[in-house]
Amino acid sequence: MYSGKIGITTTVPVEIIYAAGRVPVDLNNIFVAAPDAGSLVAYAEARGFPQSACAWTKGLYGVIHRYGIREVVGVVEGDCCNTFALCEVLKSEGIVVHDFGFPSSRRADDLQTRMERFAEELGTTLATADAEKERLDDIRKLARRLYELADAGCVPSGDLFGGLLNTSDFFGDPERCRKELADAVARAEKDSAVSDRERIRLSCVGVPTIITDLWDTFERLGGRFVDHELPRQFALLNGIGDGMVETYLRYTYPYDVFRRIEDVKKEAGKRDVRGIIHYIQSFCYRQIEDRLWREGLDLPILTLEADRPGGIDERSRTRVEAFMERMTQQGRTG
Ligand code: SF4
Repeated sequence: MYSGKIGITTTVPVEIIYAAGRVPVDLNNIFVAAPDAGSLVAYAEARGFPQSACAWTKGLYGVIHRYGIREVVGVVEGDCCNTFALCEVLKSEGIVVHDFGFPSSRRADDLQTRMERFAEELGTTLATADAEKERLDDIRKLARRLYELADAGCVPSGDLFGGLLNTSDFFGDPERCRKELADAVARAEKDSAVSDRERIRLSCVGVPTIITDLWDTFERLGGRFVDHELPRQFALLNGIGDGMVETYLRYTYPYDVFRRIEDVKKEAGKRDVRGIIHYIQSFCYRQIEDRLWREGLDLPILTLEADRPGGIDERSRTRVEAFMERMTQQGRTG
């Protein structure tokens, strides 16, 4: 099913892959949706990955081998510091690895050079990719519409998350992605007549969660995520209609945390967000940034951590319940 496809370790200029006539597949999406996600982590550990490495990194490794992926784009700058070592291991095992990086300088000429080199490696050009972007932007417009509807409270947290996230690789099948997003938009438009602004409006930041029932847990307690920072950024909503370089410079995730905080703060203000969930992953270096998120956002923040893929654990559930209770009390008194 995945042979011949190019695995991506995070969001990359996916237009270049499509322009080259190739099919991208986001390894993260396969991992977290896999029925045996835990065994993919165990597979990596059996092949020498340490217990103390992040489960996402191990899961990606497990996906590559279990699903027969032979070619990967590894983002070795502007994403995860583990990816460099992961790519070294993959290269040693005969997997074809294309290194890509978002330059820390965040200069247009540096990013353009990286993109041109990546396009050349895949046998295409940046100009061809720019043309491909028009087609994909047309689908991103549906993601933007879904995000607009979410502001009315009529898009369940999980639907918003999935709708935005799927644009990271467009399922490797842009027309299928277009259809699924169009269906989600149609459902939300139908439900907008009964939009639910009574729910506690939340935003999630940090790294992608490995907790499979996190959105449902909050929904059951009266919460609703009206913003999901990461998939919103992956969907490149701020670059629709613009050129490749301009768009990927605006994309905040690969660069410093301060612009991410500013971006979340702006969206939270516009969307009347009442509380923030900062998801952190066990053994992830980005945990250090928790302090900066707390200092930068003037809203109640709950930091949640998990290690292995699966449902929410009892301790975290109790903390979520206490946080939501506090939010509800504030709503009554505020
Ligand atoms: S959670 Fe952190 S350590 Fe794990 S893959 Fe993501 S950025 Fe890397």
